Amino acid sequence: MLEISNLTVRYGGITAMSDLSLTVPRGETVILVGANGAGKSSLINAIIGMVPVAKGSIKLDGVELTKIAPYNRAGCGIGYSPEGRRVFPTMTVRDNVLAGASRLGRAKQNQVYEKLSTLFPMLATRANDAAGILSGGQQQMVAIARALSSSPKLLLLDEPFLGLAPVWIQQISDAIRHFREEGITVLMTEQMAVPALKVATYGYVIRNGHILRGGTVDELRGAALAEEYL
Ligand code: ATP
Repeated sequence: MLEISNLTVRYGGITAMSDLSLTVPRGETVILVGANGAGKSSLINAIIGMVPVAKGSIKLDGVELTKIAPYNRAGCGIGYSPEGRRVFPTMTVRDNVLAGASRLGRAKQNQVYEKLSTLFPMLATRANDAAGILSGGQQQMVAIARALSSSPKLLLLDEPFLGLAPVWIQQISDAIRHFREEGITVLMTEQMAVPALKVATYGYVIRNGHILRGGTVDELRGAALAEEYL
């Protein structure tokens, strides 16, 4: 579904990633695991068009995204939950979530919100609270729900476990596993390999902008990943 080939991203004279290739098959949950500065966010930002691509190709269902303006990429069926969550703190939980569904009419928005509330029940109980007063785990749920509210075919999650207590990691992991049952294709990044490998089906290890290894999560969980990354 998503095919990245020979991707190179530079910031001025700094090469953050060179000739990186990976694929995300339809319906799978693919994890990109790597340490700080490995290039995970650069990859996600290249997909959504927030950083320019120096070389290479990013195809979603055969459509070359690098030729599409960033503001039109969400329309290609991409939902994005950023590193650090970036909820709008003074807006209500409901308005945050529906920011991703602003093109829909009120009735359809209500339906979308109701469906997302079955996934994250706190959306129902905290709908009218300012998002800024929520815990980190709840804000992460808001950010993921906002990304899902446009009903994307590809969901990008940039470090969804970052800074969260185990209880929240567990709840968000359950939700991510549920996405697979719903047929949503996921590409997520994480520094925390252990919980990430529990929710994914395939994975890649990234270091210094290069893919060190790719495979099923069972393959990655083995000794090689422990040596090279953990
Ligand atoms: P983190 O977990 O810290 O977000 P990451 O794996 O997402 O790390 P990136 O943020 O993609 O890594 O960074 C990859 C490399 O690119 C790093 O060397 C980083 O310093 C560099 N880099 C990232 N953004 C910029 C920028 N705006 N200007 C210059 N260099 C950058």
